[in-house]
Amino acid sequence: MSKLAVVSEKHDLKNHVHCDCSMAAGEREGWQSVLADKIHSRSWPRDLQPIALKIATGQSLDLEDGMVLFNTTEFNSLGELALMCKESRYGNSAFFNLNVHINQTNICTLACRFCAFRRGRRAADAYAMDIDEYVADVAKYADHVDEVHSVGGLHPEWGIEHYEEMFSRAKQTFPHIHFKGLTAIEIKHISSLSDISVKECLTRLHNAGLGSLPGGGAEILDDDVRNIICKGKESSQEYLDIHRTAHQIGMPTNCTMLYGTIETIEQRIVHLIRLRELQNETNGFQCFVPYPFLPDDSRLPEAQLASGVEILRMIAISRLMLDNIPHIKAYRMNIGDYLAGLALQFGADDIDGTVQKESIMHLAGSTAPLDHDATAMAKLVEDAGARPIQRNTVYDKFEEYIAPIPKRRVSLRMAE
Ligand code: SF4
Repeated sequence: MSKLAVVSEKHDLKNHVHCDCSMAAGEREGWQSVLADKIHSRSWPRDLQPIALKIATGQSLDLEDGMVLFNTTEFNSLGELALMCKESRYGNSAFFNLNVHINQTNICTLACRFCAFRRGRRAADAYAMDIDEYVADVAKYADHVDEVHSVGGLHPEWGIEHYEEMFSRAKQTFPHIHFKGLTAIEIKHISSLSDISVKECLTRLHNAGLGSLPGGGAEILDDDVRNIICKGKESSQEYLDIHRTAHQIGMPTNCTMLYGTIETIEQRIVHLIRLRELQNETNGFQCFVPYPFLPDDSRLPEAQLASGVEILRMIAISRLMLDNIPHIKAYRMNIGDYLAGLALQFGADDIDGTVQKESIMHLAGSTAPLDHDATAMAKLVEDAGARPIQRNTVYDKFEEYIAPIPKRRVSLRMAE
């Protein structure tokens, strides 16, 4: 009987140089006309043809188009169209960064049904880092990262002064680090606990050293869905308003979608359109992160784990619907390294970062590795057929990894 013996050689990616990505957010100049040429260079399946033509002429897709994209059986063509959009902007580049997640507390006054992270304050494993502990935790990673991502529960006592001190102490101690933190519901909670407006809250936090907001908490921007899966959280409009205010005071933000709970496909597409409309107004979103719910038996048992095909389809649809949000992230902490790599062929251009420490997705069931360094991230991108580019949080500094012998060489030999 024949056997396949696999021999592999691994090579380190050690060298990196500054990249020539000089355009805003790493985009290539004139990418729209490159995209039009690419789209016109081939024929498209019947259902995708009118959509491809709209994209080629710079028109945004509507709800009906989104439904066609979700229902098309032409999965490969869908992926190819999304990849064309991505490659026109960024060529073969794909981005990652060096970051760590520090969750300052898991104590939360809410109890969203999908959340595996939050604890009541009397729980045995409830915790709340004081500011010294927070700064000490950042110190453990400070030599290896340029971004700290800090989100947490809604602590019943921490108002604006606590977070001002937390971010100002951390930023003063580690000025090279960009602090990205606090989701929209945390901003709403801190504002109301401190009896100040959202604008004042954001301005004070920004002045204290908070550089940008992550996109978490968007879930599905439909209040009927939110009332079931995260009752008590900010409304859809409040999520958008908080991000709008951040953009108005000069803070970039990201945006997300948690899908696969109880929402309909139409609600997912409307979610994308609502984000796109805000982006048309403010241009403050840097990146969109679609991630599937990771179910277990206790949280939202009616939810279904999205298949790999559905995850890739959502990445591709996000790229096509969100024509004004530069970056589509395949969040490897959620979907794992293998799918994140594949997603780079379906329209994603970013796989997030090293992360190193993460609770929210891992408590929900993620097994994504936390020990990747820059070399491992670069290899992940390279193995997916793309050109690894290390970026900073706000996508205005880039370093390309030069791989002397980048590919893993695999020899296959037949043996008896
Ligand atoms: S998702 Fe956020 S707000 Fe909701 S329970 Fe979890 S920690 Fe609290």
